[in-house]
Amino acid sequence: MSEHRYILEPYKGMNTRYTCPDCGKRNEFSRYINTDTGEHIHPSVGKCNRETKCGYHKKPKQYFEQQGVSFESVSRFHTLRERKQETKVQPSLIPFEILQKSRTDYGNNYFVQFLATLFDAATLSEAISRYHIGTSNYWNGATVFWQIDIQGKVRTGKIMLYSPYTGKRVKEPRDLIQWVHKALKQPEYNLAQCFFGEHLLRKYPQKTVAIVESEKTAIIASVHFPNFIWLAAGNKDGLNPTKCQVLQGRNVVLFPDLKAFDKWSAKAKEFSTIANFTTSDFLETKATEAERQQGFDLADYLINFDCRKFNSPPPTPPQETECAEATPPPSQKRFELWNVEEIESYFKATAIRQRQVILDKCGTITDLNLFIESHLATVKTNNGNPTYLPYLERLQQVKNLFGNPIQ
Ligand SMILES: [Zn+2]
Repeated sequence: MSEHRYILEPYKGMNTRYTCPDCGKRNEFSRYINTDTGEHIHPSVGKCNRETKCGYHKKPKQYFEQQGVSFESVSRFHTLRERKQETKVQPSLIPFEILQKSRTDYGNNYFVQFLATLFDAATLSEAISRYHIGTSNYWNGATVFWQIDIQGKVRTGKIMLYSPYTGKRVKEPRDLIQWVHKALKQPEYNLAQCFFGEHLLRKYPQKTVAIVESEKTAIIASVHFPNFIWLAAGNKDGLNPTKCQVLQGRNVVLFPDLKAFDKWSAKAKEFSTIANFTTSDFLETKATEAERQQGFDLADYLINFDCRKFNSPPPTPPQETECAEATPPPSQKRFELWNVEEIESYFKATAIRQRQVILDKCGTITDLNLFIESHLATVKTNNGNPTYLPYLERLQQVKNLFGNPIQ
């Protein structure tokens, strides 16, 4: 069957017959086409009609092998007819009871334990319910990210292991990821992945949709920016037209991880007939070289910065709100000055050895001295400017945590 993916282009007049690359005779050469796309493989791949006088015939297999591509891998794609038959096959589903059984034992769910260091109990419980986060005993401490489609059906789940301390994925001794349908040993499973969080689309038909790569980022961002529906594509190649059909007619903002910006921008253009896509360059413009090296994602930013300001209406895309840095308002007014000296002398008098501190339900500071230094610099430069008041407030929060300096 798969051999027929490539056929000689059927004759539809002289414009479907080309100049032979070997003998140079015009209108004698038939090119091979890809039946999936109707496109030629290459101008050199085809057959000369002058069989005895020329005899040139370059087959697709030869061409791909010359290109260092295995013919097996390119011909494994199906013909259009096969694909049409395939779409009639319903996706396999996981019984909802299995999902329900996984909604337990969060004390032994490392990812949830990590979230507990970021959010208060009520916020955490809401986030768990929103995404039906599950616990798995496939590995000790493992988490299940269920893929529930727009109709509320469970397509599968991704079992992953995170560190409860850093919230990073466990990749040693190997990448710990497993599919639920594989763990349940269902060999005939017809997997049709959907977005993680897709079930929320039906619940909130008006909300703008934000798409990130990882499930972790979607969950954390959903707490910080509740005005969006946060979906995860699963990985940087997780955006495709079939999956995106559920986004019909919606406003969608893509938040690619560093290094995936170009790829996702191209997808946004490609899928523009499905929905109104825009691509956020938030990370591209914010990330320092060091953060780039570490492969920072949106979640890393949200974990490191205070989110209170983000939660106030109206819903504005996060790339336009102030996060790490704020832009001063266009008209500079005269401001009433704050007592920055007092707070500065407090921190000078207080020796802080602790590096990490949990500020509130949505902010953990990972480098306290750096935090204090940069915040002090910001409030000194922008003394009295209300745009920067949250910086002063955060310093005061830290001060309150530490109490009076040792005299
Ligand atoms: Zn020829």
